[in-house]
Amino acid sequence: ETDKNYLLHSIREIEDFPKPGIKFKDITTLLGDAKAFTMLMEHLVARYKDMDIDYVAGIESRGFIFGAALASQLKTCFVPIRKPGKLPYTTISEKYSLEYGVDAVSIHIDAFSTAGKSKPNVLLIDDLIATGGTATAAVNLINKAGAHCIEACFILNLTFLQGDLDIKKTTPVYSVLEVL
Ligand code: 5GP
Repeated sequence: ETDKNYLLHSIREIEDFPKPGIKFKDITTLLGDAKAFTMLMEHLVARYKDMDIDYVAGIESRGFIFGAALASQLKTCFVPIRKPGKLPYTTISEKYSLEYGVDAVSIHIDAFSTAGKSKPNVLLIDDLIATGGTATAAVNLINKAGAHCIEACFILNLTFLQGDLDIKKTTPVYSVLEVL
């Protein structure tokens, strides 16, 4: 059974990282706790095993860890969503605004062509949603790439920031853990 309290407490908080005033949620302590990591992965597999997922897409870089582990357990494909300039083949990108300036996420143009379906089902996963800028852009990117984002999944949702509001207009959101 999933002990969400145990999972939540397996995540360490680091004050003033990467900048003063930010309390960073450090998931390396969850990964370094075999009971927590196993419990989390079993929880995700139970949720997604019967959802007809063709691809798990993970956001750089901590979304790769959970996403690749989950894709492997679901016996499906994994697709990396990366910062611009990292993927070697032809990419498509989606910009999003930050507090100061803009950033973007990229994907290989043919990332969702291997399933041999016209609209494959993609599960988006990342470790954490804060303002939601990154994940909203990633959902848009998946849809732009010709796939169907069946759900956006986060290990931890900083719910008080309401970063999932835009995604929820089009796509279900599932958060394993929430900080209210
Ligand atoms: P957002 O775009 O929702 O503001 O930020 C979410 C992105 O930044 C995610 O890719 C996430 O990995 C990263 N991020 C922001 N804050 C934290 C944090 O406190 N801990 C972790 N692990 N990642 C964070």
